[in-house]
Amino acid sequence: MIIVHKYGGSSVATTKKIVDIAKYLGSVKGAGNDVVVVVSAMGKTTDALIKLAHEITNDPSKREMDRLMSTGEQQTIALLSIALQSLGYDAISLTGVQAGIKTIGHHTKNTIESIDSDIIKKHLSEGKIVIVAGFQGVNRNGDVTTLGRGGSDTSAVALAAALGGKCEIYTDVDGIYSIDPRIYPNAKKMERISYEEMMELAFLGAGVMEPRAVELGGKYGVEIYVGKSLGEKNGTIITSKEKVMEKKLITGISINENILMVNIENIPTYAKNVYEIFKIAEEFGVSIGIISQNDVTSENGSIAFTAAKTDEAGLEKAIVKLKDKLKGIEVVVNKDVSKVSLVGIGMVSNIGIASRTFKVLSENDISFHQVSTSEISFSLVVDTNKAKEVAREYAKNGYNLYLASRQSEDLKDLANDIKIRSNVEVVLKEFDITKFETHSDFYNSLEPKPLGVIVAAGY
Ligand code: ADP
Ligand code: ASP
Ligand code: MG
Repeated sequence: MIIVHKYGGSSVATTKKIVDIAKYLGSVKGAGNDVVVVVSAMGKTTDALIKLAHEITNDPSKREMDRLMSTGEQQTIALLSIALQSLGYDAISLTGVQAGIKTIGHHTKNTIESIDSDIIKKHLSEGKIVIVAGFQGVNRNGDVTTLGRGGSDTSAVALAAALGGKCEIYTDVDGIYSIDPRIYPNAKKMERISYEEMMELAFLGAGVMEPRAVELGGKYGVEIYVGKSLGEKNGTIITSKEKVMEKKLITGISINENILMVNIENIPTYAKNVYEIFKIAEEFGVSIGIISQNDVTSENGSIAFTAAKTDEAGLEKAIVKLKDKLKGIEVVVNKDVSKVSLVGIGMVSNIGIASRTFKVLSENDISFHQVSTSEISFSLVVDTNKAKEVAREYAKNGYNLYLASRQSEDLKDLANDIKIRSNVEVVLKEFDITKFETHSDFYNSLEPKPLGVIVAAGY
């Protein structure tokens, strides 16, 4: 069996940690497995490298940034290989290029196009432990590239897919929680989570997994184990939704602090020029998040959108060009905003989610800038200094959902299932449903108001 392990920055922050990992890898290899290891840069090395470049200019060339950032992972692969060899194991370190990881796209945001896995397989067949630098690859010009922050997760899952192996991600948290345990210590750890929900949580800001890694896992059917302790398997498995449970409620809450909000007012001939705005944003590589607008009918309209904070340099250039093209527009950029999102399959279609969500804001006197929903998420843009408070309030209230069904037996099973799999406290209450004409009547009768009501089929 081929097993791909991935160790993140904090897990390889010191040489002592690297030696401990080497000992553990030796035991995994000793148990008869072929072992491939993907590692990140040590500790906060990537941040430090970025800071160095920004000491020179705030808009360094992206090609050179890839070159610079890729050096972090190269230190770790060499050190881990040295640690393994010093323990008597046969090991070899490979950069992204050497491991055959081919990428396409823009520098600093590349995606993996293909992996020539023969090189790794050859080393494995010779009995070696193969250590691969995460986060990096090579493009068609032969330039070194990186996969975006947190990209070592993607390297690991892609390698597991290419090699037909298992994937285990080791990090500084012992699994995936309903909300970042650093923000809400009472968060519950999940035994399993579906690719869809983890992807949504990750896209919306849960930093524990890189979203594209989860997407690849789903696409190629690679189950991803996420955990902390070496040896014990008490983390979370990211897998297909059939293997999780169908009637999952709110899965989690995430915060994305990597956003800023742009407000553009006084846009002449609105409909025509809105296109111009987003065309110019694209030209400068600015990723757009939530878009909202107020008045569409007036000649001079306004629009607001969120963008990634990491695209700030591109955004500044886009604004200069925009002001030049559309005379008289006013642009305000607010950098002190964050997005708080609730994620769970089927939540938006349920009664009361919106009302409960806004109630939490109103009770805590928190104003919001933007709101957006998808089938399985509900996101709010709020001031950054309020984001954690909002997330905590939701964490306190978020699991207060009602399940309704005619068949109390169904509910007992469902409640039990939820309790076991999600670690969520479930209280069963009986209602005389003949008293309620509609779902809303039922919802309105509940006090305190739950986040929503899930109606089981047949009700
Ligand atoms: P690594 O360096 O190993 O890649 P990261 O810092 O990228 O580690 O991810 C781990 C961190 O993700 C944890 O320390 C935790 O604070 C954070 N995190 C955010 N959301 C969640 C969540 N829902 N469950 C667990 N951890 C989370
Ligand atoms: N070292 C890179 C980063 O900090 C990649 C990673 O750790 O996954 O973003
Ligand atoms: Mg990470």
